Amino acid sequence: LPAPALEALQAEDVAMLLPRPGPFDHKYTRGVVGVHAGSATYPGAAVLATSAAVSGLAGMVRYQGSAADAVRARHPEVVVSDGRVQAWVVGSGGDADAEQALAAALADGVPAVVDADALVHLAPHPDGSRGLVLTPHAGELARMLDVGRSEVEADQLGWVRRAAAAYDEVVLLKGRHTLVAHPDGRVRATTSGVPWLAVAGAGDVLAGLVGSLLASGLEPYDAASVGSWLHGAAAALAADGGPLQASAVADAIPATVRRLLA
Ligand code: AMP
Ligand code: MG
Repeated sequence: LPAPALEALQAEDVAMLLPRPGPFDHKYTRGVVGVHAGSATYPGAAVLATSAAVSGLAGMVRYQGSAADAVRARHPEVVVSDGRVQAWVVGSGGDADAEQALAAALADGVPAVVDADALVHLAPHPDGSRGLVLTPHAGELARMLDVGRSEVEADQLGWVRRAAAAYDEVVLLKGRHTLVAHPDGRVRATTSGVPWLAVAGAGDVLAGLVGSLLASGLEPYDAASVGSWLHGAAAALAADGGPLQASAVADAIPATVRRLLA
């Protein structure tokens, strides 16, 4: 691999990359994101991922999975039915059918966020990108590369770049600072988050948000890094120096975008 080209993403970069609706847009041109997440045991993951997606930058959210009742109860905006999508989010939070959902998303041939349980079913694939964003934390990245978690934690930049090369996809390594690696060797770091973000469900919110950006037409590298920056900034805004619940991060996305565009 070439020497790392590490760039710290700034608010101005995010404002420039952020998709905005134009006067002739409608919900379908803004993009439809499909979310397959959650399970009977973890219905909350489906609610959190769809919550971020409906507060995100796409025009419509479809949900598939076993937590449809919980999603419907919380989000009247979410469409619970089959239909064409421009991007998928699969695997978040105890997704019981992650393997089948991942296979279906790949067969659709659209970009996808591959999170949590779906990462287990994705093999290294160094022969052509399929437009994916893989969203592991350090433990999940260690399993993807069959190395120890402590090895990953000791050299996060090195391992996220190796993962992007091995899978030939954009890899977003979550943690105190999030690193987004492109298979070509570039890496963007986002430092907008706060330690209060270390809370259950935060990753599900990130997956839904990045999925909405993919559906809106951003390239995987931009969707991953812009999504990570917004996620951290929304957390900082919602936490305001105090504790945070994951749903508050999703709820703070519109205000975060408003500030950015002001
Ligand atoms: P997950 O492990 O899937 O729930 O995702 C956790 C989310 O919280 C990711 O977006 C992480 O980047 C973020 N996060 C976890 N710990 C910290 C921390 N100490 N500081 C900032 N962000 C964090
Ligand atoms: Mg997670």
